[in-house]
Amino acid sequence: MRRVSLTIHHLYADMMNLYGDRGNVISIKKRCEWRGIPVEVVDVGLGESICPTGCDIFLFGGGQDREQALLADDLSGTKGADLRAIVGSGGVVLGVCGGYQLMGHHYETPEGEKLPGVGIFDMHTCPRRPDEPRLIGNVLARVRAPQSGDAVREIVGFENHGGRTELGDVEPLAEVVVGHGNNGRDGTEGARRLNAYGTYLHGSLLPKNPWLTDELILNALRRMDDSFELEPLDDSAERAAFESVSALVAGRRAG
Ligand code: GLN
Repeated sequence: MRRVSLTIHHLYADMMNLYGDRGNVISIKKRCEWRGIPVEVVDVGLGESICPTGCDIFLFGGGQDREQALLADDLSGTKGADLRAIVGSGGVVLGVCGGYQLMGHHYETPEGEKLPGVGIFDMHTCPRRPDEPRLIGNVLARVRAPQSGDAVREIVGFENHGGRTELGDVEPLAEVVVGHGNNGRDGTEGARRLNAYGTYLHGSLLPKNPWLTDELILNALRRMDDSFELEPLDDSAERAAFESVSALVAGRRAG
């Protein structure tokens, strides 16, 4: 196998780090280092260009409306076009909550301001009505990952968003088992297109869902070497973390 090294591009690291989404960076970094795969983390801030290396994962965390408004403009130029091109060519991107919302066509704030999104996913996000609650709580969802045929795998996390996301011509990432997901109505959670993943799950997401972390890593490494395989790791701690949440919500499973 070719010698590979991974670059993690952390978009707006300081602004979009709600509910510890930086834990997603740490999880990818450690699962590479434990396997002896060199990994570098690059923070990409306002006004800074995205510089892919050919073996990359792009992470876009969650943030409040104020931060989203600040960076929507930054994404409206070449940076957004670069991200669309990266996704179109099979690049690996994970957007969480506020970052996920800005991967759609637009995110409308409760004040009625439509923040333009990058348009990676055919979806948009509307504000909650004044009589509607924020969608908050632990989430258990089922993912039908194309990589593994019909195998169904579960993910857990924590959601806290006012926005309601409506999917257009795009696959959901998962179906909600417990929790609200995209809008609390249609049973979908997140979105998935090629190797771009969007989700409302904070937590942070990846430490409790190691199979998904490894899927992102493998998708990125195989762009350099399509025969690449990941050595298995002892995931007992991660499994315990997953089960701590799945057990917590078990009584709320709808069957
Ligand atoms: N500001 C967005 C909302 O409230 C996203 C919040 C977040 O990233 N948790 O829907």
